[in-house]
Amino acid sequence: MPLQSSSEEYFEGCPALLEAQSVLAEALINNDYNQKQIAEVQKAQDFARKAHKNQLRKSGDPYVIHPIEVATILVDLGCDLPTICAGLLHDVLEDTAVTTVMIEESFGKEVLSIVDGVTKLKKISFVSKRQVQAENFRKLLLAIAADLRVVLVKLADRLHNMSTLEHLAPAKRLEISQETLDVFAPLANRFGLGVVKSRLEDLAFKYLHPEDYLRIEGIVKDNRQAREEYLKEFIASLQKRLTEANLSADVVGRAKHFYSIYNKLQRLQTEQIYDLSAVRVVVDKESQCYEVLGILHDLFTPIPGRFKDFIALPKSNMYQSLHTTLIGPREKLVEVQIRTREMHEIAEFGLAAHWKYKEGGLNALSSQKQHIDYDSKLHLLKKRLIEMKDDLPDAGDYRKAIEIDLFADEIFVFSPKGDLYNLPRGSTPIDFAFYVHTEIGNRCQGAKVNERQVTLDHQLKNGDIVEIHTAKNAHPSSDWLSFVRSSSARSKIKNWFKKNRREQYLQDGLNILTESLSRQQIDEALKKGIFKIIAQKVGLANEEEIFVSLGSGKLNSAQVINRMRAEGFLQAPAKSAAEEEKPFKLKRSTNSGIQSLKSLLHSFAKCCQPLPGEHIVGVISRGKGFVIHRFDCSNLESLDQKRLIEVDWGEKEKASGLFASTLDVECVDRIGISRDVLNKISDLKINILDVRVLTRPTKHTALIRVSVEVPSISTLESLMGSINALTDIIEVKRFVLKAMARKERSA
Ligand code: MN
Repeated sequence: MPLQSSSEEYFEGCPALLEAQSVLAEALINNDYNQKQIAEVQKAQDFARKAHKNQLRKSGDPYVIHPIEVATILVDLGCDLPTICAGLLHDVLEDTAVTTVMIEESFGKEVLSIVDGVTKLKKISFVSKRQVQAENFRKLLLAIAADLRVVLVKLADRLHNMSTLEHLAPAKRLEISQETLDVFAPLANRFGLGVVKSRLEDLAFKYLHPEDYLRIEGIVKDNRQAREEYLKEFIASLQKRLTEANLSADVVGRAKHFYSIYNKLQRLQTEQIYDLSAVRVVVDKESQCYEVLGILHDLFTPIPGRFKDFIALPKSNMYQSLHTTLIGPREKLVEVQIRTREMHEIAEFGLAAHWKYKEGGLNALSSQKQHIDYDSKLHLLKKRLIEMKDDLPDAGDYRKAIEIDLFADEIFVFSPKGDLYNLPRGSTPIDFAFYVHTEIGNRCQGAKVNERQVTLDHQLKNGDIVEIHTAKNAHPSSDWLSFVRSSSARSKIKNWFKKNRREQYLQDGLNILTESLSRQQIDEALKKGIFKIIAQKVGLANEEEIFVSLGSGKLNSAQVINRMRAEGFLQAPAKSAAEEEKPFKLKRSTNSGIQSLKSLLHSFAKCCQPLPGEHIVGVISRGKGFVIHRFDCSNLESLDQKRLIEVDWGEKEKASGLFASTLDVECVDRIGISRDVLNKISDLKINILDVRVLTRPTKHTALIRVSVEVPSISTLESLMGSINALTDIIEVKRFVLKAMARKERSA
């Protein structure tokens, strides 16, 4: 083998080089790169060959084989053209006479910047002292943030170096292997590069734990034939059922990689692993995944607790699949993954594959820029960076590095759904809750961080998953102000107190009621639980809320007293009380007493939509007779008292007919919430006249405005109670139209 040749034709005819070149050429064709792209790759390859001249690797092979194999890995990952060219050129800046200017002239800025990034990364070691490690990690993160493709080249570089590690000194092998396992395999995993991750892990494992590696290799080899026969049997019985169900699927036995077996061996009892066979089913459509699952669970008994639906809930690196473990023939366990072709590509090739699908091919010409929104890409990246830390050793140091320099005074946390939120450092679940939505903050009762219950003043950390528990009657507490970090949460809490001076209202409410009732009457009502009953009927959490509502003006004393009467607590119209309870000074018609509705020409006010059972008032309007309002309709306040007349529903009206009433249901905006509300209404056999749903995406809430037909206030109230009892309902209230009242007023 001629290792030296003329200065123009380095290593011409070297078999190892020829082999590497033809593998790259084949990969380009197999991955559908076009002629123009292939020509550009050839140009970069020639450039690299010239640059590395007669350099040799430790193995004795021509150096240029290394960048060619790195490029081949990148081609197999479906990378774009600049990345592949950068792969070929990734070592020229460091080891050869080539300058940045030369690369830019021949291949452009984009390729240069990737090569430059990789060159800088190479100077970073992750096996040094901890402080240096953290600092280096920071640099790595910055490089990733600058251009993701730098990492792809770096990972391909590392993968090829790992596969030729045997040529290095033993100490160096261990050092590089450890670094691979600690930093690069997790990095590959975070970018969804399942193939790269497994290969890196297995190679590192081989050098770090050679004995364990050999042992597992032995186990796998010894059982190969029996395992393969077993799988054949399993697959045949599955295929038969799939054919019967008219489902076409690829079913293959799948080799688990050694490092994952090793990890399992350490976690499980050793015997279990020997039995374990793994199968992958690949179908065309997502729905078929579930069909296949159904067939499998019908055919074999699934192990409880082992089913995982990563389709509905993808992993953070976008991995999707259904996982299940079955008791196969002869009581042996079989692990099954079910996924679509696209999911499979993403599981193996990560983001690259994702973009390939999304953008209609990454391997377009370099002039065709990828149409990836920069912001969302960066957003995704930051998210990945943060998630990544968990996989790294001495996470504290890394975290510090991230926090101090990269995101100096902000942290990133996630909702259970995986939405990313950016909060000031030192934030608590309360800050998070208010950040998500004011009402969620106001109703925050408890919180879980990473599925563990925490106190509300718990300081959140980067990457935490925060889940807020709300309760309808929960409300801010003044001590929250002592620990919330964000100014927005602080001002929202203060606002709430401004709006809900609860204690004050409670006192005010009591005072208001004592204007109409004596203290003894109130005490007695409390003792008898009358207020509790009323609270239930008007949809309040407890009797205390009645006083708070009175104090804040949500209820008026007339309503409360009417209810007390309805509960049989106050006999007949409490004379002295009735006169004082009116919110506006309605003069009782001295001559005729209360008019019955039946005897009046009337229509119902659209603003307050009075219902039988409610205290009502008629407003004389020219030509229309009386317009009937609720006694407490705020639109009556400015009217001339002479036009008002107290009206009674009369027996007949009460007994017959349906009345329109409109409710405003404020709720958390989630899928199916409107359906839940509407189902609840029809469950109660109440007719729906109209529904409007207004979503407010920035607020994460929706307003469902629904008009229903009810016979009386009590039906409406029980309906409001049932809707209120649904999860994710923030508030149910009657809709009051103010403009309409003004029109009537002028009528
Ligand atoms: Mn290299």
